[in-house]
Amino acid sequence: MTAPASPPTSIARQLQTSFRLISVIIAGALAIALITLALSVFVVGPQLGREIDVNNNAHEVQQAMLNEETGVRGYLFTRDRTFLEPYNQGARDLADFNARLDAEVAGSPILQSYLIPARVAQQIWVTTWAQPLAAAPAPTSVAAAQPILSTGKTLFDRYRAAETPLANQIDVELSSARFNQYLVLGVAAALELFLFTITLFVTARQHRRLQRDIVQPVDGLLATMRAVRDGDLAAKVPESGPLELRQISSGLTEMTRSLAQEREARLARESEAIHNAQRLQQILTLAREVAGSLNLRYVLRAVATSATVVSGWSRATVWLTDDEQNRLVAAYDSDGTNGVPIDIEPLALGEGCAGKAAKYGRTATDGDDATAVGPDGSRTRLALPMIVGARVVGVLEVRDSEGRTADAATVESLDALATHAGTAIEAARLHQKVEERSELDALTHLFNRHRFEVDLEAETGRSLRYQRPLTFVMMDVDHFKTFNDEHGHQRGDEVLQEVAAVLTGELREGDTAYRYGGEEFGILLHETDVVGGAEVAERIRTRLEQSLGAHGNHRAVTASFGVAGFSERLGTADQLVRAADAALYEAKRAGRNRVVISVASDVVPAVLARQRKTGRARPGAVKSARVTRGAKSA
Ligand code: GH3
Ligand code: MG
Ligand code: MG
Repeated sequence: MTAPASPPTSIARQLQTSFRLISVIIAGALAIALITLALSVFVVGPQLGREIDVNNNAHEVQQAMLNEETGVRGYLFTRDRTFLEPYNQGARDLADFNARLDAEVAGSPILQSYLIPARVAQQIWVTTWAQPLAAAPAPTSVAAAQPILSTGKTLFDRYRAAETPLANQIDVELSSARFNQYLVLGVAAALELFLFTITLFVTARQHRRLQRDIVQPVDGLLATMRAVRDGDLAAKVPESGPLELRQISSGLTEMTRSLAQEREARLARESEAIHNAQRLQQILTLAREVAGSLNLRYVLRAVATSATVVSGWSRATVWLTDDEQNRLVAAYDSDGTNGVPIDIEPLALGEGCAGKAAKYGRTATDGDDATAVGPDGSRTRLALPMIVGARVVGVLEVRDSEGRTADAATVESLDALATHAGTAIEAARLHQKVEERSELDALTHLFNRHRFEVDLEAETGRSLRYQRPLTFVMMDVDHFKTFNDEHGHQRGDEVLQEVAAVLTGELREGDTAYRYGGEEFGILLHETDVVGGAEVAERIRTRLEQSLGAHGNHRAVTASFGVAGFSERLGTADQLVRAADAALYEAKRAGRNRVVISVASDVVPAVLARQRKTGRARPGAVKSARVTRGAKSA
């Protein structure tokens, strides 16, 4: 079991505790020093001083006795009174130091008990021997003095014997006083040392605690603040240390959290704004592109592509209402090859998501059921009616295979897109109808596809009937989508007009050029075999390269050609077109900007026929390296 974490203490309390502890220790040390001083000054010091004085005076007394004895002996030997001088001095000193000694031992019964016998022996020697001899005339001879000296020695020895215990006791007491002095000083020094060690220990511990509880947390906080300043709002704020730092930490956490939220919200707003701008840009691009085009396939593709870009979803289908206004027919599907819808059955109005949108003229969701609508009102499948005037001309349907949802802003953008799309599609459809009736293509003023089909039927019939050569050239501008993307749709239209001008300029009278669809053109060459047709195609290719090739600041415009000669082997007009189309496909595959002759064409008979006609042999069918015979069967 782990101990519960103790509540954080404040820096102030920690510092206060440290301060108190150290103050107590310092006060203790001071008290010890004072006590030691007092003991030394008032107790141990005076005692030692007194013992030293006693000792000194005892020595002085001895010295005075020796002086007296020396004086008396000198006098006895010499009978000269001047030798009594040391005696007289000794007698004065003895009286003086005896008095001092008496005063000093007055307070010590033990010393007094040792002093009394010594003093008695001293007085006996002084009064019975030294004083009488010093006062009387000296003996006449040394021999006469001998017994006196001997008596003196005996008495002096007694004095020494009585004085030795006193001297010993004085020594003992002096040593004891010295010991007391050392004891006081030693104990005081030991205590001070002890306190000093404790102070060191406490200080080291406080240092460690301050380091752990304040310095490190503060460093951590500073590091976090620096990280936050440098933009790292996810930086972890340490929640340790004393109360104040924890309060600062939680304040900082709070602050970074709200900063992070604010930043997230700002980024979301910015990305939403960018997204909206992109959507708007896409809608504008579409509006610009489709406004100039009356080509229905092109418009349908542009609408579907824009819808996937704006929604961010994977699939867009464009439905058109049929002429009777009771069915929806899938006209373009982004999942189909080249946008051709695969296995999509027409829908009755009111049927399915798209049918509902068409019937009620409002945006419909997947079955309009709640499961397709996200909690924020987002959708996973949308069908938007394309309305022109009060009529629904079709439906733009978008969905996502990954189940992503679209928000309200996206739905709004798609709505705007559908409005533009409706107008453009309606215009293109009307144009198609008018064109079909008028036989002329409005942009290039060449014959249109409708007229091509009528002419082709008539010309193939005539060729078969009269055994006349007939060649069909199918031409497609290379990378024209890229051209449009780079230079805009309007410039693309101008280029198509220029291409048409080159075509009509290069053709003989009687040969006819058609706008087959989009950037595809067809040429019917009467009385021309496939080799001649390839020559014409190559001429046109070269002319296009010269007039629309890379010059100025725009991308080179080139075209690829498929050439097919009509013969009994091909049989029908439809097969002739397919043969040319296959050859064109091969020209594209081989790298574009070239002419390919269909393998289905009877090239050899055509060349022989030509040789017979001109009377001169030709080394090859066509000279240019850009003209080849297709390798694949049509
Ligand atoms: P490729 O060399 O394979 O033919 O490439 P491409 O880009 O020409 O072929 P694709 O069929 O992918 O694109 C044809 C493009 O022609 C699509 C559209 O941008 C453009 N286009 C079709 N009709 C018109 C039109 O009437 N005016 C303009 N300006 N462009 C058109
Ligand atoms: Mg093309
Ligand atoms: Mg094409």
